[in-house]
Amino acid sequence: MRSIVTGGAGFIGSHLVDYLVSSGDDVIIIDSLVSGNINSIRNHLDSDKVRLVSADLLEDNWQEELAGADRVYHLAADPDVRESSVSPDRQLNNTIIATHRVLEAMRKAGVLEIVFTSTSTVYGEASVIPTPEIYTPMEPISIYGASKLACESLISAYCHSFSMRSWIFRFANIIGDRSGHGVITDFIRKLKDNPDELEILGDGKQTKSYLEVRECIRAIMYVINHSNDIVNTYNIGSEDWVSVSEIADILCHEMGLSPDYRYTGGYRGWVGDVPKMQLDISKLKLLGFVPGLNSRESVKIAVRATLE
Ligand code: NAD
Repeated sequence: MRSIVTGGAGFIGSHLVDYLVSSGDDVIIIDSLVSGNINSIRNHLDSDKVRLVSADLLEDNWQEELAGADRVYHLAADPDVRESSVSPDRQLNNTIIATHRVLEAMRKAGVLEIVFTSTSTVYGEASVIPTPEIYTPMEPISIYGASKLACESLISAYCHSFSMRSWIFRFANIIGDRSGHGVITDFIRKLKDNPDELEILGDGKQTKSYLEVRECIRAIMYVINHSNDIVNTYNIGSEDWVSVSEIADILCHEMGLSPDYRYTGGYRGWVGDVPKMQLDISKLKLLGFVPGLNSRESVKIAVRATLE
């Protein structure tokens, strides 16, 4: 297959590229490198199977790359939930406008399949936990969650209007090596600066579901290979959850440190933070997928991989 991966130099995107190359795909990565890291894909750039197009989706110099492609994996976005309430414009542009531009480029090039990375934050503070895909009302509490939900709607409309097919994945927290953001990266950075004290945003009781990145890619590819509705929407996460303080404990144990924890207070870490999140993955399991990791195992693997 000839696959396009937007955001392919990013954390999840680079692991997806690893998988696609190992499956024999020809891959074109479109990435502005705003938060991606060329080192994450460097090992592929000498091969004739992968090409990097350094381009911003908000500009106009990448659309011709879609000619002849079979599928677009659209991962490029600004994944910072916290920052989205500080710079809503940036979020709306890099998520909604960029996604619309990708859909338009696909329509014009005749590319009919899109894979989209959405998020648990589209559900907002759900009253049903674990939260299934059919949960309503969808009431996001962050600009990031709202933007992703808008993208899901656009993708659905394009699929029904222009004979396209889509796979939309609502992720829990995806963690692992090459991640440039999130709780583990944040804690490691803080502990390297000061091993005696760890600042924890909120009260540390925020409890969420985490999944290691390779397991996430395994789930994505399983769903793509086993579902073929016009719009295929699936939660991807693990079947348990872990608190922020427990993550700090695991990390400190792995680093051999015993810092004092300093909580900033409040039950949210930041504006738009959903303090309790666990996704219902029954739909994924009904398809035949067998989960391989829980949240705690995912955290341990991610911590060790990040510290390497
Ligand atoms: P990331 O920041 O590592 O990757 C995003 C990539 O997109 C980067 O390489 C960046 O350079 C690129 N990019 C951003 N804006 C661009 C633009 N306008 N044009 C071209 N390239 C652009 O983030 P990630 O954690 O790997 O997230 C990948 C996707 O998964 C995102 O869509 C994110 O919203 C979604 N997601 C991630 C998580 C998570 O826990 N990491 C959870 C839910 C959803």
